[in-house]
Amino acid sequence: MTATPVSLSMPTVPRRRRTPEHVAAAAPVAGAKKVLLAAPRGYCAGVDRAVIAVEKALEHYGAPIYVRKQIVHNRHVVETLEERGAIFVDETDEVPEGALVVFSAHGVSPAVVRSAEDRGLRTIDATCPLVTKVHREAVRFAKDDYEILLIGHEGHEEVEGTYGEAPENTQIVNSPQEADTIRVKDPDKLIWLSQTTLSVDETMETVRRLRERFPNLQDPPSDDICYATSNRQAAIKKIAPQADLVIVVGSANSSNSVRLMEVALEYGAKASHRVDFANEVDESWFEGVSTIGLTSGASVPEVLVQDVLRLAAEYGYGTVEEVVTADEDILFSLPKELRATLKEAGDSSRGLGGRGQRPQS
Ligand code: SF4
Repeated sequence: MTATPVSLSMPTVPRRRRTPEHVAAAAPVAGAKKVLLAAPRGYCAGVDRAVIAVEKALEHYGAPIYVRKQIVHNRHVVETLEERGAIFVDETDEVPEGALVVFSAHGVSPAVVRSAEDRGLRTIDATCPLVTKVHREAVRFAKDDYEILLIGHEGHEEVEGTYGEAPENTQIVNSPQEADTIRVKDPDKLIWLSQTTLSVDETMETVRRLRERFPNLQDPPSDDICYATSNRQAAIKKIAPQADLVIVVGSANSSNSVRLMEVALEYGAKASHRVDFANEVDESWFEGVSTIGLTSGASVPEVLVQDVLRLAAEYGYGTVEEVVTADEDILFSLPKELRATLKEAGDSSRGLGGRGQRPQS
């Protein structure tokens, strides 16, 4: 059974129509109006892989396909996949026995995997390989009897998944302030790991404070904050000091998008706002603004950024300069459960261009 491939090329929320009065309402500013567009921005390799996994599952197995939690933290992506037959659930006990469920890019704890097995569910694990790497570190250090200080936001799905690998050995550190008060069993057998989508600077501050108290605290074998998070923050750090306003395209529950907004302010942007869609941009934000910084979180299709650019052009910000701080060419192979099916079906396509741009069909 096959289904039509999902297209993420058009937003599902209509844009607010701009009138000449709207445009005139934006106060004139001295100097040329321009947009500094961050690069890299938008889709990372883990999001790309997870979204394609759901698309390919819909195409090859047919709707409905169940997905535990939001496949990635982006409203547009989730709503578009829902329209095509994906059903998002909070827990596997909401999935009918024997049905197919996809685990999201943020990862799951072993308890969730067991629960799916117990219910006879077929699964596709779309956990980002860089999250899986952190899970493996947690398992390995717990096995060697280390206590793990997991820097991250309690309640975030990724943190729940990593914590669930070794709950007896793990404590969550939510903030630099918590580093000052946390109590450990043995200060000489201690390692820190982290959520992949945190602020690089704030995490380093948390580690600094932890190390002040526990000098023998070990570092992870390699960075847990992923390349996509670091690169997007580096790009906005370069833009922020020149920006009167930074707009971040991304959803409220997207950790890396919210961090981009915070980082922009820390690095000198006069104002910073997050929007899911261009029609959420408030025209009052443009008052007195000559330079807009624009970026997007790692789960955001490029089409949504282009919508904001079009809107900005209507207000006179037609000059766009891309500020490139890194090139990204990472691509992850699809989940193994899916690869076998695609091979059998002779499907060798991944169906995606760069940065979440879909080929038009
Ligand atoms: S933000 Fe990083 S860890 Fe998360 S899905 Fe993207 S590449 Fe993977």
